[in-house]
Amino acid sequence: MTSLSIMLNIVLFGPPGAGKGTQSERLIEKYGLIHLSTGDIFRANIKGETALGTLAKSFIDKGQLVPDEVTINMLRSEVVKHTDPKGFIFDGFPRTNAQAQALDEFLKEIGTSITVMLALEVEENELKERLKKRAEVSGRADDANPEVIANRIKVYNSETAPVKDFYQHQNKFVAINGIGSIDEITNRLFEAIDLI
Ligand code: AMP
Repeated sequence: MTSLSIMLNIVLFGPPGAGKGTQSERLIEKYGLIHLSTGDIFRANIKGETALGTLAKSFIDKGQLVPDEVTINMLRSEVVKHTDPKGFIFDGFPRTNAQAQALDEFLKEIGTSITVMLALEVEENELKERLKKRAEVSGRADDANPEVIANRIKVYNSETAPVKDFYQHQNKFVAINGIGSIDEITNRLFEAIDLI
């Protein structure tokens, strides 16, 4: 990898159903970034029936987090696959403080760092509504089961929400109102990035 110092590395953060996947598509298009979604990578492994997929499925189906070590190693190997990237969007990662710490360390090893965490804020009832609707089209078992959804939100609140503080301490945290039309939210994200 070269030109690492000018990379734009975004953590797109938010609870399940906040719109991270949808908004990532808009951001990669505008800024030419590489989209790394740990959830997408796990689902591709489940589909391909790999050993990683089998392991991940046992956690995902219950709405639990896949263990840190597995997730961190997987993400690290994805990052180093890319030569001379303009930057990355990390979508659904980091989800624990240990993951955030590991991400900082291995970005440092390759001479770069996180530029900003953009956190999409959406209240719980709206999230549940969105996930229910998404279940009709996503084909995701973890969207279709209300108990699994409730557990994902619980895990988000207890293990993932504290990751905000990690970036707040580094002055890299920006909250984005995640309620509104897809275009409105995209524009808020563009404005936040253009202010950096
Ligand atoms: P997502 O597509 O981001 O909603 O992720 C779907 C599921 O994959 C989550 O509910 C977790 O079980 C698992 N997962 C995705 N990303 C991570 C991560 N960073 N750490 C642990 N588990 C993850």
